Amino acid sequence: MAIRTILHYPDPRLRQKAQPVTNVTPEIQRLIEDMAETMYAAPGVGLAATQIGEPHRIFIVDIAAEDEPSNLMVFINPEILDPSEDLSVYSEGCLSVPEIYADVERPARIRARWQDLDGTVHEEDMEGLMATCLQHEMDHLEGILFIDHLSRLKRQMALKKLDKLRKAA
Ligand code: ZN
Repeated sequence: MAIRTILHYPDPRLRQKAQPVTNVTPEIQRLIEDMAETMYAAPGVGLAATQIGEPHRIFIVDIAAEDEPSNLMVFINPEILDPSEDLSVYSEGCLSVPEIYADVERPARIRARWQDLDGTVHEEDMEGLMATCLQHEMDHLEGILFIDHLSRLKRQMALKKLDKLRKAA
């Protein structure tokens, strides 16, 4: 396993559309192990393969609280179905847009379909933080970042802040 470099905005590789996984090869298994190590080291609650420059339709999520045992979920070829009409708002952040947080409005409930490492297809209704997290990670596979969901003014403010933080670093 290895900790991989997380790409930061505005790296153009974050804008790549990820390709479906046809076969969970040993390479793909290794990639997922690397993703897990990279996410936990960051630390973060989600990581898409796109974020380490590997345009495969894979993301991982672990939203367990600090005092709970870790609960790594691997989503291969994920799909989001039946987004609810009612929305919820979470303050989102992203390992690819470090130290920037902003409220993003998304469907409050979704149905997710995905494959696990064994190729088994799962389908589950998700709500709350999990629903938001899945939509955020799903966006990465389409080359979309959470800041793209902000109004122009809010996005400009966020990017200005990011610029300032970079100059201070
Ligand atoms: Zn992200």
